[in-house]
Amino acid sequence: MPVRGDGLLNHDLLPGEKGPQDACGVFGVWAPGEEVAKLTYFGLYALQHRGQESAGIAVSNGSQILVFKDMGLVSQVFDETSLSSLQGHIAVGHARYSTTGASVWENAQPTFRATAHGSIALGHNGNLVNTAQLAELVAALPKENGRATQVAATNDTDLVTALLAGQTAEDGTPLTVEQAAPRVLPHVKGAFSLVFMDENTLYAARDPQGIRPLVLGRLERGWVVASESAALDICGASFVREVEPGEMVAIDQNGLRTSRFADARPKGCVFEYVYLARPDTDIAGRNVYLSRVEMGRRLAREAPVEADLVIATPESGTPAAIGYAEESGIPFGNGLVKNAYVGRTFIQPSQTIRQLGIRLKLNPLKEVIRGKRLVVVDDSIVRGNTQRALVRMLREAGAAEVHVRISSPPVKWPCFFGIDFATRAELIANGMTPDEIGASLGADSLSYISTDAMIEATTIPKDRLCRACFDGEYPMDLPDPELLGKQLLETELAAGVAEPAATEALRRP
Ligand code: SF4
Repeated sequence: MPVRGDGLLNHDLLPGEKGPQDACGVFGVWAPGEEVAKLTYFGLYALQHRGQESAGIAVSNGSQILVFKDMGLVSQVFDETSLSSLQGHIAVGHARYSTTGASVWENAQPTFRATAHGSIALGHNGNLVNTAQLAELVAALPKENGRATQVAATNDTDLVTALLAGQTAEDGTPLTVEQAAPRVLPHVKGAFSLVFMDENTLYAARDPQGIRPLVLGRLERGWVVASESAALDICGASFVREVEPGEMVAIDQNGLRTSRFADARPKGCVFEYVYLARPDTDIAGRNVYLSRVEMGRRLAREAPVEADLVIATPESGTPAAIGYAEESGIPFGNGLVKNAYVGRTFIQPSQTIRQLGIRLKLNPLKEVIRGKRLVVVDDSIVRGNTQRALVRMLREAGAAEVHVRISSPPVKWPCFFGIDFATRAELIANGMTPDEIGASLGADSLSYISTDAMIEATTIPKDRLCRACFDGEYPMDLPDPELLGKQLLETELAAGVAEPAATEALRRP
């Protein structure tokens, strides 16, 4: 599977098109008397931008867990019939973008495992960095009926599910999920915002760095956990607080219990503020939209230019473009119209359509652009191919000048925590100065915001943010490169290290 990353950062990419991708949205609800599957459906709908490859919902009715998952968007996977078959009072849901493990049905989530006490279903946002070590721990689990614990998938998440399902006490007594979690979670390294459940309890846990967001909300008759606060709004839940880094919460008829499996060492992903999260989400008390507008303002101060019009690469560049326009005094206008629904099809475009490239997604407003000196504000550049096409398109539409302004610093390092950018060699900022990149894009000028200004715009202290893709300072030790990578477990399977097994989740008919 090729690595991702092609410049134009947009949550609605065409199939096969390359841009940095989020690594999943998770949602969980405990609410007796509510239609939990439908609440989860709408929660996942609000989180669709975080993962568009597959979607799934697991529901418990108190005696059994049913999982329904498939490849595709949330709206493609579920309909009234499938949702009404998922009856119960607890649900966890997942929208996936793959970072470890191929984009195949077996790797769709929630993952599911039988336990000695029932079963567990689990969804994961993030990416683990000790997958190989976790695979060894799974291999060392007690034998199930004389057979080794089998892996049902080739993603890192299923290993965590297997570990939670397979723990025993010193005397060999199987542990419950709640008893197993404090044993297992300290061994899990990397980024993980988890929602999981057994038949009676909803759980949520967040890695000690809190790299990916995870929030807790309250319904009149229950509780909700979600990747982003925007997903609480859509299902009528009120924001309570974030799940803390290193914390696990458990929710059942006895209320909410909290415990800590590790000390908090906060290093939230700064790229959530730049691009990943919805603008109407708050992370660590800071609204994402306001952060982006402030990035645009600071960018205007750091990289002013004489121009007639500020336009955005819609939609992720829009808040920063508004900020740039406010600060510079240059009018903001719509120069590009987005074909809003084109990214929501899984129909592979024909070769003729594919050759249209960026035009399939963005159409220039010639009447607005013609003869103007443009400032084009975007949130980031990864490989630059799409930006190059964008500059060409704007010139063909009659722009007099095209000045590109980017509201994040140059992306120079890969992310191992759930964002699939590109290899170092593919990142355009490696080996080229901003001026050289600007020339390569065909722009009249190109400037990036500084790292400090980007961080200040979030209002989060610098030492509480991961910014490794910009400065290479990773918030934790990383294993050797051969022990990282999307296809680590597929490679091990091919080498006979792990053994696949049929998942017990329901396959869509
Ligand atoms: S490396 Fe970049 S994208 Fe990855 S977690 Fe850190 S800041 Fe976020």
